[in-house]
Amino acid sequence: MAHSNIQQIEWSKTSREMESDVEFAATEAIQHLGRINPISGLWNRRQFIDDFGFGVSENTIDDHYAVVLLTLSSAEHFGSMVRALGHGFSEEVVRLGANRLNAALPHDIRLYHVGLKSFAFVVELKDDTEPPSIIRLLEEAFSRPLMCNGIPVRNQIAVGLNRADAGVFDACEALRGAFVAAEDSRSRCRNWSWYDQTSDQAHFRSFRLLADLGRLMDAPDEIAAAQFSLHYQPKIDLRTGRCCGVEGLTRWAHPNLGSISPVEFIALAEATAVITPLTRWVFRQGVIHRAAWHREGIDARISLNVSPINLAEPDFADFVLETCREQGVGPEMMEIEFTESAQTMDSELTLAQLSRLRDEGVRVAIDDFGSGYSNMLYLRSIPADALKIDKSFILTLDRDEKNRKIVPTIIDLGQTLGFAVVAEGVENEASYNALADWGCDEGQGYFMSKPLAEPVFRDWYNATRCSAVA
Ligand code: C2E
Ligand code: CA
Ligand code: CA
Repeated sequence: MAHSNIQQIEWSKTSREMESDVEFAATEAIQHLGRINPISGLWNRRQFIDDFGFGVSENTIDDHYAVVLLTLSSAEHFGSMVRALGHGFSEEVVRLGANRLNAALPHDIRLYHVGLKSFAFVVELKDDTEPPSIIRLLEEAFSRPLMCNGIPVRNQIAVGLNRADAGVFDACEALRGAFVAAEDSRSRCRNWSWYDQTSDQAHFRSFRLLADLGRLMDAPDEIAAAQFSLHYQPKIDLRTGRCCGVEGLTRWAHPNLGSISPVEFIALAEATAVITPLTRWVFRQGVIHRAAWHREGIDARISLNVSPINLAEPDFADFVLETCREQGVGPEMMEIEFTESAQTMDSELTLAQLSRLRDEGVRVAIDDFGSGYSNMLYLRSIPADALKIDKSFILTLDRDEKNRKIVPTIIDLGQTLGFAVVAEGVENEASYNALADWGCDEGQGYFMSKPLAEPVFRDWYNATRCSAVA
């Protein structure tokens, strides 16, 4: 230990020698401290890597061993604990958790404190039981709450197991794999999981897509335009059968991974700050196209999808209106579609921006109505002009009796509240005719047209402009 080194300094040394001995001892003490977690007093991740790193144990660790990683609680649970009871309390919970875990493990296992609230160790898999016997020990240890300053704290542990490779053992990679497995346990609401390469690869893919997406959004417009494009799906006025607008849908042609669905990349962008530049890119493209169409006499409003996160950006309405002004496009030629969420509806900023956009002439539509949130109370007060019925009701309209009852009711309700009602996912003539009979205002779907690349849409529009589409 560091202090014993200090005591061992010999009196016979010169003062220069003594100085360098003290420096050496102090450096060792600091290095030692750098390997101890100050809350639990356990060795940390650096020490884990040194203990099991390359060359140290490659001969002893093989596939009879597993790295086990245990997280004490979810990030949300831990966050609310810090919010309600403070950092000191949460640190005490971590310290008590470390003690409980250490006491539960066999004496020959060395425990490491590898993250804020996560611990790891290496265990020999002595039998082929499933789950391995160590899991029962851990579950048992945390079946009772931790008593922290008189408050019982229940820990929702998540454990990840990563079987060591038969080849060279890479401590960093083994620990990462165990962490991935623990995260899988958390997302599947299970206590424990083995490392699963498929799920890991899915995470790798998300990470890669996100990194590429971020880089593209920073690149000059022409580079982004080589991979990103807006396709347009016509919306049909069900009274006249004519195209009255289009929905802009983003397409990403990844140079190595091929075509990526917006369902995948929009969700990734929404989980990060990338949704802001992405939506702005989409809007700039859409407004530029709208300006070009005006010059060609194409009279179709463009609807663009916005995420609730965009609506919470204080300058979002300014951005939309400014982009229209720059390109000489009247705001009444633009529409935004957004899905309701508690987050959107409770935010004054969002509601104020929606109202401002509407006041300037932008049409506002509630997307995917009937799925997810769809709170009737909000429907009464929301600043919107149109209601898009979720396509899950429309896709099977020709064969689902219940949907044939629900859809006309939504149309009546929407129109009574003053909304234009739009049905998307119209895939066949029977559904088209039923919607027209029920007085639905607009329809969109593969029966009329799939989403089309911009030049293809212009041709489609020019070919159908003098006649009803369906
Ligand atoms: P959404 O806004 O509900 O868009 C409609 C989706 O339904 C589109 O899928 C469209 O291609 C598909 N669709 C239209 N008609 C039919 C039909 O008759 N049958 C079937 N089976 N499907 C039909 P897509 O293009 O894959 O987009 C999926 C979602 O991705 C969109 O759902 C929207 O939520 C999101 N998205 C697309 N582009 C953007 C964007 O630029 N920004 C944001 N925030 N979201 C976007
Ligand atoms: Ca939409
Ligand atoms: Ca929709």
